[in-house]
Amino acid sequence: MEVVVIGGGISGMASAYYLSERDGVEVTLCEQGENIGSGSTPRAVGGMRSLYSTPVHVEMSLASLEVWNGFEEEFGIEIDYKNNGYLFGVRSRTQYETLRGDIAMQNQLGAVTEFITPEEGTEHVPELKTENYMAMGWDPAASMADPHACLQAFSQLARENGVQILTDHQVTDVRQDGAGRARGVEINGGEREIDADYVVNAAGPWGHRVSAMVDVEVPITPKKRMTAIMNPEKEVPDDAPLFIDLGTGAYFRPWDMDRILAGGHFEDDDPTVDPDNPQSFQDTVDLEWADMAMEALMSSSDYFGLDTEIVRAWSGVYAITPSNHPIIEESVPGFVNNVGHSGRAFMHSPASGELVAEIAVDGEASLVDTTALRTDDGRDTRRQLPIPYTKDTYD
Ligand SMILES: Cc1cc2nc3c(=O)[nH]c(=O)nc-3n(C[C@H](O)[C@H](O)[C@H](O)COP(=O)(O)OP(=O)(O)OC[C@H]3O[C@@H](n4cnc5c(N)ncnc54)[C@H](O)[C@@H]3O)c2cc1C
Repeated sequence: MEVVVIGGGISGMASAYYLSERDGVEVTLCEQGENIGSGSTPRAVGGMRSLYSTPVHVEMSLASLEVWNGFEEEFGIEIDYKNNGYLFGVRSRTQYETLRGDIAMQNQLGAVTEFITPEEGTEHVPELKTENYMAMGWDPAASMADPHACLQAFSQLARENGVQILTDHQVTDVRQDGAGRARGVEINGGEREIDADYVVNAAGPWGHRVSAMVDVEVPITPKKRMTAIMNPEKEVPDDAPLFIDLGTGAYFRPWDMDRILAGGHFEDDDPTVDPDNPQSFQDTVDLEWADMAMEALMSSSDYFGLDTEIVRAWSGVYAITPSNHPIIEESVPGFVNNVGHSGRAFMHSPASGELVAEIAVDGEASLVDTTALRTDDGRDTRRQLPIPYTKDTYD
């Protein structure tokens, strides 16, 4: 079986790797950029957690965490993996009730998440402003790693399995036979063609454009998200978890050299962006965002104040679907979508990659129940999930 994977981000690389683990599967990965990681992957903050509001997300997290947990030992490649946990700060009664119910659901599925008091939260993040929170969600099994290192690791493993990784290869069309089955791709407007039995779309925020090549209009809206490395006023412990304030949407995690990585989305206005616009992937962020981020962070804990410095900042793009769930399915014969992961493709990539391999090679997914990851001919008729925690998608 020959498979072409479109996209050299973490979703494509993990798909290529898991496909190449199967006997008799030859994989070619096409990346339009000069290098792999030309999209959002190296711009992610690297958090992984099981605190989610729907079973499928929890199951994808549990399956993925199992891989991330043993990654360095199993493959002998460093990914800066830290099992620091995840802490959610709850500010409203609605969030309180929702999160409490969600944690019960997560526990039933095998996650070790807990509902704790703000005071208990200070055992993990000592300088929290406890008076601003009603409760906390604690995920001790959650972790963080360096997304760029993880992408390089999957690419090394894929290459070792014989995957051909072609950069400067933009897929400009997907070829279909008379019956509509995907049969290969056209590169750079016809410069080259590559035959395939399966084509995998892992083009992240460009995913809807690639899917349109087989006339499947997947509902992906690209949204810009920003993050910054900061020098906090007080040192955040190296073993602190990734903390998300569900009330404001602000988050932070320890970074290297006593710095932290912080972000969040604060404006009600959330325009759809063009991923090809240089403004989408920037190495600076706007002052208004920095101002709102700082204000939100200052109300979370005593690590932040007027002397907090922004050292470096950047933006990337989330690929959001109406139901906030990714699309992982064989959308037309021979064409598998692995797109629409919003802010989760990094953490869920081991599961999504394995699901792609199952769909293409076994003919059906079995790692998790993918009912909630499938569309109705490209239309996202899945239940419009409430975004229970914040205006951003921490569901
Ligand atoms: C600030 C920020 C923080 C984040 N934090 C986290 C986090 O803590 N945890 C987490 O799990 N996720 C996080 N994310 C989200 C995460 O970065 C994305 O979900 C993930 O990187 C998407 O990976 P991907 O491989 O699907 O897409 P991308 O990494 O965007 O890769 C898609 C690739 O496809 C290529 N491509 C597109 N079209 C074509 C074509 N026609 N032909 C060939 N190649 C093509 C692109 O050039 C690109 O390299 C964060 C994102 C941002 C912006």
